[in-house]
Amino acid sequence: MKKNEMLEYLSDRENDTLFRLADSVRKEYMGNKVYIRGIVEFSNYCCRNCFYCGLRGPNSKIQRYRMSLEEILSVVQSIYEKGIRTVVLQSGDDYYYSRSDICKIISLIKKKFDMAVTLSIGERENEDYKAFRDAGADRYLIKFETSSKKLYNKLHPGQQFNRRLKILDVLNSYGYQVGTGFMVGLPGETMEDFINNIVLAKKIDPDMIGIGPFIPQKDTPLGNYGKGSVINTLKAIALLRINLKRAHIPATTALVTLDDRGLEKGLRSGANVIMPDFTPDKEKSKYVIYDNKRRITLESAKKAAKDANRELSLERGDSLKRKEAVYER
Ligand code: SF4
Repeated sequence: MKKNEMLEYLSDRENDTLFRLADSVRKEYMGNKVYIRGIVEFSNYCCRNCFYCGLRGPNSKIQRYRMSLEEILSVVQSIYEKGIRTVVLQSGDDYYYSRSDICKIISLIKKKFDMAVTLSIGERENEDYKAFRDAGADRYLIKFETSSKKLYNKLHPGQQFNRRLKILDVLNSYGYQVGTGFMVGLPGETMEDFINNIVLAKKIDPDMIGIGPFIPQKDTPLGNYGKGSVINTLKAIALLRINLKRAHIPATTALVTLDDRGLEKGLRSGANVIMPDFTPDKEKSKYVIYDNKRRITLESAKKAAKDANRELSLERGDSLKRKEAVYER
């Protein structure tokens, strides 16, 4: 799809044509299943300084926590016992967990449970990514956040847009199923940036892409800015589905935080994944990447799938873009 075609869809106030087209592409290329991924947010420590995120290192108002190996394994077990076959281990960029710590967590999960492991633990050395993959990690999620290099570098002091893109290449070369994503409505984002987010996503051609509206967190430099739009997020999901066809696309927590029916609406706009959160209650409220973050439960995921007339699937749901052999080590 060309940029001007996307702009035409975006300016269409009805939007129904766009959502219907995305839904039919989803049905043809991805089928009717809604894949479930269980998330554990195991640490909210972070050494970075992202202007939009409540976990940023300089935020002294947040209560920090780290989960032990035993605690993490116990949550993974509860996810596994529910029949879910993908776990997503998520944290801030927390180097307290060394390369060997993360490898140990991965290999113990792979030894005890027959399930896919996705890591979402930020920027590390290339050697770390290699070691995690060798230890058994199947997928890695790291978002590019915005296609505007200027905006990226402004909102991420100490980090570089080019390094972020390079990491995606590196992960791909190590055989990970690669996930990325961006935010809709970041302060300073233009309509051109919005379209370029889709164009960049298509160029990266990831196995998974997650997007959500920007939501402010009051203790950050962007705490007083307005939130991103739900309808623009749904349009972005639809455009991604039409352009990327076989990528897994989740209906995200940020979407449901701004709209009670966000999960169902996401599924009807091209999404095919939901990621319920299994972080223990005592830690859950401390993972404040933005304010008023909702919790997606397995029950709410089941309800959204039912409301959207879709079939819930707890299986691994590997990338449909690649051949099975790619994942064999
Ligand atoms: S977005 Fe990620 S890397 Fe940035 S401050 Fe938040 S947790 Fe840390």
